[in-house]
Amino acid sequence: MSFRDIAFQDKAIEFLKRSQEAGKLSHSLLFFGPEAVGKREVAITLAKALNCNEGKEADSCDSCPSCKKIDGLSHPDVHWIGPEGAGNVIKIASIRAMQKKINLKPFEGQVKFFIIDRAHLLAEEAANSLLKTLEEPPKETVIILITNDLEKIFPTIRSRCQWVLFSQASPGELKEILKKKYTLSEVDAHFLSHLSEGRIGKAIAIKEEGGLKWKNAIIDGFTMENIIANEDALYFGNKREKVLDIMDVMISWYRDMLILANGADAALVINADRIDDLTKKANALSEYKIRELLAETLKMRAYIEQNVNPKLALSNLAFMTEQ
Ligand SMILES: [Zn+2]
Repeated sequence: MSFRDIAFQDKAIEFLKRSQEAGKLSHSLLFFGPEAVGKREVAITLAKALNCNEGKEADSCDSCPSCKKIDGLSHPDVHWIGPEGAGNVIKIASIRAMQKKINLKPFEGQVKFFIIDRAHLLAEEAANSLLKTLEEPPKETVIILITNDLEKIFPTIRSRCQWVLFSQASPGELKEILKKKYTLSEVDAHFLSHLSEGRIGKAIAIKEEGGLKWKNAIIDGFTMENIIANEDALYFGNKREKVLDIMDVMISWYRDMLILANGADAALVINADRIDDLTKKANALSEYKIRELLAETLKMRAYIEQNVNPKLALSNLAFMTEQ
């Protein structure tokens, strides 16, 4: 993907391009903004643009050997660093390994990149070790820290980087892009743009899971029996993100039900493809019960985010749904 193809991040891209053209691009950049809005795509595209064999218009060509290697994560001058192991932290060993490579000349490109993903997970000693490098990175090097949680980045790290803000689109804007660029139907685009709350990466990930089919299978299959039968699929650790997706679908479902129970505008419903089922359910359940289901689902989602066993949380919720 080149800069031209990345949606909604014009301001961040413009800023990077202009800084580069003026010779003022900082060697230590901090990309921050919500999850799944394109921070990694912009980082990788910057690495491609600055190493592209074609080198046209400060963008990547995506077809030269250098661009292809970077896309394939096999370029010797572009390094990704992220959290590892059970502790889910970026270890000091990873930072030391980076420091060993950083003073070498680029192997085949013009600029070496070290992209530190989920930088808010830097262990304290790793962060301390990184400080000096951020202050004086060698020439021909760009370090990019990526985070969706600026508050958790150590202030000493924050103050040594140039900040680049990434924002998310409104669901309406994302819907139009999904229809035009990804040729999705109105109903699909409507659901994905709202469920993802305007985050394009999230919308595309759900689309790749199967979009409406996937979410309807969740809604229809959200029973205790199914959750027990699918224990392996839901179990866990690395599947936490998936369980959160399931929770988001159920939140959208109960929220829609509540909208209809309150007699609000049906155009606000996210699961527009299921309006008849939703109306039936909204009529069959009391508003109190729907509220309770929604509140419980939101609570479970928060628990899972804080590391509560997702299976337990889901089982509790499915049990409640069936009452
Ligand atoms: Zn290229």
